[in-house]
Amino acid sequence: MDHNGTTPFDTDSLRTYVKVAREVFGNPSTLCVAGNKAKDKLQESRMIIADEVGARQTEIIFTSGATESNVITLRGFVDRARRQKTPCVLITTPIEHASVDNTAKSIAATGITVEYVNVNKYGVVNLGHLFSLIDKAPPKSHIIVSVIWVNNEIGTIQDVSGITRVCRQAIKKNCRVHIHLDATQVVGRFLVDFSKMDVDSAAFSAHKFYSAHGVGGLYLRRQCELVTPMSVSTQEKGVRAGTENVAGVSAMAVALRKANSRLREGFSEKIRHMRDYILDGLVSRIPDILINSHPQHCAYNTISACLPCDSRSLVTYLSNKHRICIAVGSACSKGGQSKTLKAIGVNPEDIKGSIRISLGYGNEMWQCKRVLEEIVRYVSEYDQNDEA
Ligand code: PMP
Repeated sequence: MDHNGTTPFDTDSLRTYVKVAREVFGNPSTLCVAGNKAKDKLQESRMIIADEVGARQTEIIFTSGATESNVITLRGFVDRARRQKTPCVLITTPIEHASVDNTAKSIAATGITVEYVNVNKYGVVNLGHLFSLIDKAPPKSHIIVSVIWVNNEIGTIQDVSGITRVCRQAIKKNCRVHIHLDATQVVGRFLVDFSKMDVDSAAFSAHKFYSAHGVGGLYLRRQCELVTPMSVSTQEKGVRAGTENVAGVSAMAVALRKANSRLREGFSEKIRHMRDYILDGLVSRIPDILINSHPQHCAYNTISACLPCDSRSLVTYLSNKHRICIAVGSACSKGGQSKTLKAIGVNPEDIKGSIRISLGYGNEMWQCKRVLEEIVRYVSEYDQNDEA
């Protein structure tokens, strides 16, 4: 029940991975027959993925995952502006994944202006504030706005069309605005059509939709150029050098097609139903619970809540005793307190009890019933003095 952290490998996707790794071993950049076979496989996968997300083939760049896609986009945009000697501003939110958040911090350390747009208690971006941040950028600036489309920790879904509208309205003084989405929790979980959206780039990752770790991609709209730290060879339009992971990319294409066809068949409603069962049970049986997720604009599979107990002990107990996997905050905030929960105003005491449950296709109702019972039992028997 930690599908926002990662998902199990889909059987068809895994079969493809093994078959391609075994049979299509050529280097896609070489001219020989083995190379051509690999190149064809890569192109076929690119076509499938482009088709599934409403992009052109030339708009899909393969990477090692969403972390890399986020980093090369932000750095690539800033470095390009620097080369062109134009002022540059990065606008982002305080609830980003570490790959964006830490990149923004390192960009700020080089003297580039980094602004954080305000969010409300559910993490929803304040559009008026976004407008004013773009509006105050110096004339002729290159501005990149980077927003997490669906938050991995609390599940908040941003109003992307509102964000793009505001970004385009606010442009003046010959500024240029690049809109980047961290779509890691979206691609393969919601049907997307980038051709109908006014965004310039979006990051995604195969292991969030039942495929391999270390494989992902970047949607990069035509005419958007990046000078990335990986612009050191010609692969992937000069944006991401290195021999492509043909097996991983082929497996990702199969997984995405399957995930999207499940979405078209309405499978997400089954997940929503199970999520609501756990959520309603927790709310009615644990009086002091706090729900962090937005009542409507939350991913259908996610629950973020603060319980009146130490959630690290709860998560360890569930895992060791019952082999139930849920998360404390997010997998990526391990060690420290959740930055996202802090940003939406949850107090540090409550954060100590924060959990995240995120469902996926492998889950069944009987598991949801068991998880609910075990959490309720743990919380009702929880004695703070014992824990201390
Ligand atoms: N962004 C978000 C919103 C994520 O949830 C994750 C994965 N936890 C990432 C980026 C990083 O993805 P990857 O593991 O593919 O680098």
